[in-house]
Order: sequence, then structure tokens, then C-alpha cells
Amino acid sequence: MTQVSITKIYTFEAAHQLPNHAGKCANVHGHSYKLEVTVSGALQKDGSSSGMIMDFVELSTIVEREVLNQWDHQFLNDAVSFRTTVENLAQEIFTRLEKANLSVTQVRLWETAKAYATVTK
Ligand SMILES: [Zn+2]
Repeated sequence: MTQVSITKIYTFEAAHQLPNHAGKCANVHGHSYKLEVTVSGALQKDGSSSGMIMDFVELSTIVEREVLNQWDHQFLNDAVSFRTTVENLAQEIFTRLEKANLSVTQVRLWETAKAYATVTK
């Protein structure tokens, strides 16, 4: 039994700060975040999205509405009520996309070119 998933990659720029962090992240600074969203499920049998899990355009509409439009070029500490670690941000993205009825199975958020957090269902 094989499983199919699709993944789309997004980028956004944002500033944040980790108060009480024993290091450079205690200062306000920015990241060029890269976000990978993976959706799994059965392929649709008919209609315009036949043979697809979902249309990439539809996926992007949801990701933009739930995440990118709210966080791009923002100070994340003002945009959310939790500590803005990459782990917490990835979990928040996963939760928002699930609540938007997306059959998301993985979110990977890159904070730098070398560091990311992954949330998997
Ligand atoms: Zn940072």
C-alpha cells in the first residue's frame, strides 16, 4: 500500500527575539524563514482536481491566509502569544492549518539555511 503526499514550499521574512535566551537570540533580529507544508490523502476521483490530493493553488490560498499574510514582515513576538522559537512556530503553523481543515501531515520550518524544526502527525 503506497501513500501519496504533496509538499509546497513558501518563504517569509520576519523579526523576532527570544527574551532571556543566553545567546545572540536575545537581541531583536530577523530570519528568512522557509516553510514546507506536506498534505497527504486520497487522490480525488473526478472534477478539476482529479488525480490530485488537492490543487496546489488551493493549498497556497490556505497557507497564505492562515500564516503568511499574518507573519510576513512582522515582529513575531507581537503576532503570537508564545515564545517564538522555531519549534513553537512550527507547531502553531501545524495547528492553524489543521483547524483550516487541511489534511496536513508535516510542517517543516527553516529558521536558517542550516536549522529547522519538523512537526509530524
Ligand atoms: Zn532567531
